[in-house]
Amino acid sequence: MSDRVAVIGAGQMGNGIVHVCAVAGYDVTMIDVSQSALDKAKATIDKNLERQVTKGTLDPAAKAAAVARIATSTTIDAVSTAAFVIEAATENVELKHKIFADIDRLAPAGAILATNTSSISITEIAGRVKRPEMVIGMHFMNPVPVMQLIEIIRGLATSDETTERTVALAKAVGKTPVEVNDYPGFVANRILMPMINEAVFCVMEGVGTPAAIDQVMKLGMNHPMGPLALADFIGLDTCLAILEVMHHGLGDPKYRPCPLLRKYVAQGWLGKKSGRGFYTY
Ligand code: NAD
Repeated sequence: MSDRVAVIGAGQMGNGIVHVCAVAGYDVTMIDVSQSALDKAKATIDKNLERQVTKGTLDPAAKAAAVARIATSTTIDAVSTAAFVIEAATENVELKHKIFADIDRLAPAGAILATNTSSISITEIAGRVKRPEMVIGMHFMNPVPVMQLIEIIRGLATSDETTERTVALAKAVGKTPVEVNDYPGFVANRILMPMINEAVFCVMEGVGTPAAIDQVMKLGMNHPMGPLALADFIGLDTCLAILEVMHHGLGDPKYRPCPLLRKYVAQGWLGKKSGRGFYTY
């Protein structure tokens, strides 16, 4: 089997994952149902690689080699040549089940099936496929080329070998893997999302403007970014989906998504990617 990595979903996370894999020397197939998402992702990767060249952290020949390693496809059967599949499509449990059924059928027998889900149970995804021991969570942080962490999440049936191969890939792309277990939201979002949700409640109740709330957290807690700017950056639809999974999966009312967050998503104010969220872009 080749060393090829297939990445499903060419959104903000998918393009970053493709970027770091290609720079690390892997041949990558970037798959999305939308040709325009693929075109946009290629342009973003090019721009981000160019920024590294300008900064002097990547030489122009390495950039050209990375770009040449990236293939694209609008059909999922392109996973048939991959040794490692990383799913980074929209955060929706039914969609993930459908994609995993397809990649379980189409990827080579030895291929690991990883998901970049922010919150959906790895065990629930693995429970529906024929190779649950080869399913694992590989939770990259946004923006992928910049952030050090990858949360590695073992499902109930994930094998040691799968975990070892995933940790090795994480290190090979220059990241620091941290292993955690499978509970809704894992560690990163279990702690981050209640803070973001509380900041949205503060907006709804008029405790402060978004700018004031973010200033308090930046200047008072030394956070590099306020929670509302961060929520806009992550995507308000993604934040809502994660909170829903935690609320449903943990059954505790403390994870109840703020009604104002629901309203923003219903209106299509999804944050930076849609041009408007708590701020205007
Ligand atoms: P996004 O909305 O930017 O991109 C999702 C992409 O998936 C879109 O391009 C869409 O066309 C594509 N897609 C939808 N259905 C598909 C299918 N059947 N096959 C192939 N592609 C399909 O979303 P994102 O922010 O990149 O998030 C992707 C995943 O990463 C989600 O599971 C999310 O929870 C997770 N994640 C997001 C962040 C973040 O900060 N946004 C951080 C860590 C993990």
